[in-house]
Amino acid sequence: MTNKIYYQNPYTQKLLAKIIEQREKNNERWLLLDQTVFYPGGGGQPPDRGTIDGKRVLDIREKDGNIWHRVEAPENSWEPGSVVELKLNWRHRYYQMQQHTGQHLLSAVLDKFDLPTVSVHLGDEHTLIEVDGPVPETARFKEIETEAQKIIARSLPVKIHLVTKEDAEKYSLRRPPKDFTNLRIVEIDKFDYSACGGIHVSSTAEVGLVKIIGCEKIRGHARVKVLLGQRAFHYFDELHQVNLLLKEKLNTDHTQFNDRITLLREEISYLKKLKKFYHQYYVVYKSKQLAEEAVENLVVLRLEEGEQSDAGEIAKKLSKDFGKVAFIQFDRRFFLTSPSEERLNTIKFLREHAETLEIKGGGPQGFCQGIMNRNNLQQIHETLKISLNR
Ligand SMILES: [Zn+2]
Repeated sequence: MTNKIYYQNPYTQKLLAKIIEQREKNNERWLLLDQTVFYPGGGGQPPDRGTIDGKRVLDIREKDGNIWHRVEAPENSWEPGSVVELKLNWRHRYYQMQQHTGQHLLSAVLDKFDLPTVSVHLGDEHTLIEVDGPVPETARFKEIETEAQKIIARSLPVKIHLVTKEDAEKYSLRRPPKDFTNLRIVEIDKFDYSACGGIHVSSTAEVGLVKIIGCEKIRGHARVKVLLGQRAFHYFDELHQVNLLLKEKLNTDHTQFNDRITLLREEISYLKKLKKFYHQYYVVYKSKQLAEEAVENLVVLRLEEGEQSDAGEIAKKLSKDFGKVAFIQFDRRFFLTSPSEERLNTIKFLREHAETLEIKGGGPQGFCQGIMNRNNLQQIHETLKISLNR
């Protein structure tokens, strides 16, 4: 059986090992070594990453107590008996050890608060701990976090015990397994005992920080969203950046953010009302002015100011209140209005001239709208003149 150095000393990052066997299967190269630092994964912890003699380790599997390593390409000089150098991706491993132990710690604290862990999911961004019980109140989460930070601050040793079934009964295990002969028990010094085959840091101090960032009800349980160790620190850093940005944009500190935003919202609401009023005023004023300047009761123009809806309102008013036929362009959009079918059948006009004028549109008789494919307002003007005179 491979000597599992990752269990004996989880802090070993480099190791010399002897090749016991090499196997090739489906173009994959697998190495069996006399000892290893590479954890094959399990219990929610992912497999390790690293290199063997500089070659990347792609996969690690355990079979009958032996650890097999799949390497990207083996050295030609490798043969049973050769000594190779194992190098662990320590950043990755330590991060996983911290996340994993942090979860033990928080689950133990949740347990003390009558929220026993049902399942755990270690995600890319956060850890989800599903607990049996209702969604706790925010104040309770504060107590849970405070308790977890106390355990971290006490720097409690994390110990491993390898015991038989008989001995296992002496420990008050959190979530004891049903069927086993030998058991690996992880103890957070006199505080928590649980059966686990994962890899842990040696002191609770190394967990560093625990932050609960949310909780939701799921399948009659509560699912606690949590950030542990480095993740909690990164989260704090991100929030700090957001805080700095808001401080600059709102020109005040975080104690005033709420007041400042409430004030800004009120201001926006007032300005919206004011805008609506001025738009109505603008539509009345503009349509009156255009009606007075109109030649042959026809108004054709491109509106440069205001908004698209203004163009529609002005065209409508020109026909309804001043008896004009109007074609108002706004960007690529146009509005074609007429006071009566006799003056101009707008639907018929669009149908007959759509192709020549390269316009596309429709709508109820007297109030049509559409899109202009060309900037040919002059041509449209001429065509309208003829259509009206006919
Ligand atoms: Zn564990």
